[in-house]
Amino acid sequence: MAYSLFNILYKLRSIPNFSSFISSGIHSHTFLLEDLFFILNPYSMKYVITGGAGFIGSHLAEDLIDSGEQVIVIDNLSTGSLSNLSGISSNDKFRLIISDVRSVRHWEDILDGNTIIIHLAATVGVNKVVCNSLETLENNFQPTLTLLNQALPLGCKIFLASTSEVYGESTGVCSSESDPLIVPSSHCGRSAYTLGKLTSEHYCLNYSRQFGLPVIVARFFNAIGLNQIGNYGMVVPTFVRQALAGEPITVYGTGNQTRSFCNVKDIVRAIRQLLQTDSAYGQVFNVGGSESITITELATYIKRVTGSSSPIVYKPFPPHRSLGKDILHRKARLDKICSVAGWKPLTSWHTVIDEIIDHQKVLLQSRPREQYAYV
Ligand code: UDP
Repeated sequence: MAYSLFNILYKLRSIPNFSSFISSGIHSHTFLLEDLFFILNPYSMKYVITGGAGFIGSHLAEDLIDSGEQVIVIDNLSTGSLSNLSGISSNDKFRLIISDVRSVRHWEDILDGNTIIIHLAATVGVNKVVCNSLETLENNFQPTLTLLNQALPLGCKIFLASTSEVYGESTGVCSSESDPLIVPSSHCGRSAYTLGKLTSEHYCLNYSRQFGLPVIVARFFNAIGLNQIGNYGMVVPTFVRQALAGEPITVYGTGNQTRSFCNVKDIVRAIRQLLQTDSAYGQVFNVGGSESITITELATYIKRVTGSSSPIVYKPFPPHRSLGKDILHRKARLDKICSVAGWKPLTSWHTVIDEIIDHQKVLLQSRPREQYAYV
């Protein structure tokens, strides 16, 4: 696609708005030329990752940059962190816009027909969701609509990160994309997350059906890996922190509830494989681990590998979990993504947990204790 003189002049006119781009290490006089090249280069694909400073987003951004791709991250840093992007922030092909998706102005400077949008930005974590349920509901569908409307005239591909939570209280041991969904009660704060994501799914699939927009929806199941923080209740970073600090490892309920944890690196590979698969567009896919373990097994393993003296203690579900009915068993059927995109998880849960523990031990040795409130 060649750019007309009009397009170039139009984009030149709006360059001052790029003050919102953080471009570390680039002096102002070179900034203009480099950004011009970055924006106007019509021949390569460009990835826009919302929530790209977060756990999954930062792994994805790094992977794309390592493959030589152009990446623009849009993140309001509500739960994401600049430190997650420190490895790529000075790369010429990387740009960061610190903003909520709904507040971004001048989309014409960000998107073109070669842009792939990967929408990961969301309010996440059971604790945060329950304490901010109205904000969660809005955050988890309004930005999707903003992105769809911006993508529509350009025909940008959109990848939506949805969640296994949409299966709600479905009773099947293994959830399949075609299963009926049992939507949780509106009285429970946790359902704001589910309903926000489900609404996003509906918007995406309707834009695909009615307008032919190329959209993929993926339901992620319990991602784990480096850079995941435990502040909002996620079990693996919480247990690792407790074990390394010698504090009680707090298992909620009987500990017989099961999860199939998935390495974030496998998730990144799933996103990239799906985006490259023409027949994946317009469809929903589960992305998760293939092995189920109980939460007691998880606690026992983390205690053993860390060599911790922490006791494993069983506690009642905290109110925000029991009100929302903690999901007993959660596992993905993966036949669909395997047959359509040839993807399956490659890492076992204990390999990822070993990696997390090793990483946290190194961080503990290099950081003063007070900065280590959460892993
Ligand atoms: N969990 C736990 N102790 C904790 C945090 C979580 O026993 O300190 C349990 C929680 O009740 C759930 C499982 O671990 O059964 C996974 O929780 P997480 O919040 O990581 O994911 P989700 O509930 O969304 O599957």
